[in-house]
Amino acid sequence: MFEIIFLGTSASAPSVRRGLSAQIVMYRQYRFLVDCGEGTQRQLLKSGLGFKRLEHILLTHGHLDHILGLAGLLSTFMRWETIEQMEIYGGRATLERVQDLLFKVVLRGARPPMVLKFTEIKPGCVIQDQHLELVAFPVTHRGAPGCFGFLFREKPHRPFLDDQAVALGVPRGPERRQLVAGQTVMLPNGRVIAPDDVLGPVEHGASLAVVGDAGRIDDLVEAVRGVDALVIEATYLQEEAEMAQQYGHLTATQAATLAQQANVRQLILTHVSRRYHEKDILAEAQAVFPATVVARDLYRYTVRRGQIVLAQGPEEAVAASEEEFDVGA
Ligand SMILES: [Zn+2]
Ligand SMILES: [Zn+2]
Repeated sequence: MFEIIFLGTSASAPSVRRGLSAQIVMYRQYRFLVDCGEGTQRQLLKSGLGFKRLEHILLTHGHLDHILGLAGLLSTFMRWETIEQMEIYGGRATLERVQDLLFKVVLRGARPPMVLKFTEIKPGCVIQDQHLELVAFPVTHRGAPGCFGFLFREKPHRPFLDDQAVALGVPRGPERRQLVAGQTVMLPNGRVIAPDDVLGPVEHGASLAVVGDAGRIDDLVEAVRGVDALVIEATYLQEEAEMAQQYGHLTATQAATLAQQANVRQLILTHVSRRYHEKDILAEAQAVFPATVVARDLYRYTVRRGQIVLAQGPEEAVAASEEEFDVGA
């Protein structure tokens, strides 16, 4: 199960209700910050998440509305050393711009307040462990070389059948770990237990694709095929399709067409322009792909295999953030 919390959902410039692009994807111990537009720090506080465990920052591309918040974040960390390490992932050109911002503007010769790492993304696996695989795929977007989208995929797993294990006399401890790892074990009484004796049928995990700005959809269909939730920009409406093409952005219709062609379960639109009403963006997309929502700042979605839930609207998120202030986080 993944959770995604939208911190900023506006295109290019903030509006009264929407901040610039940023979202947190949470999975088990991980917190991935995907993009970090200006104002992200305050949204992190409002969301109730605070600055803890912001160790992985994934950048879709290097346009300013997606990276300027890193300067403020680092500036805060220079005063309060709250994390040990920050690793920033992006295409080469993105990292170069971010390094200029952080080293030439913010740090200016000072030591970073944490271990600061930069990892250049290439298409393919970025991070994986026994539960999760994070894959980067190329995205085409105006004037920005090395743009990437991110696919978060929970690895298929077989649940451990506790009742079965108890019935077979498998004690708690290393034998169980070995069985989960696919090894046959022999119990002290000489009984041999195979993984199939205590593991249920394979369960496929949830998948979530997060694409930043994009200028075309035909090269994204395979990358996002069949995901439980697709997050992607919808900067324009179809009535301004020409302008969308000129600036290398998508219309709501194009985003919905991608969702339909790639057979995703749920489409979540973001990076929306203050030029339009949200209901018009939603109506245009839903005419093509009904399972569409438009994200709002501080909305939180839970993505499970075959199911997506809006778990928390902004009012509750604001209430949660007050508690966060009280504990001084
Ligand atoms: Zn943008
Ligand atoms: Zn952009």
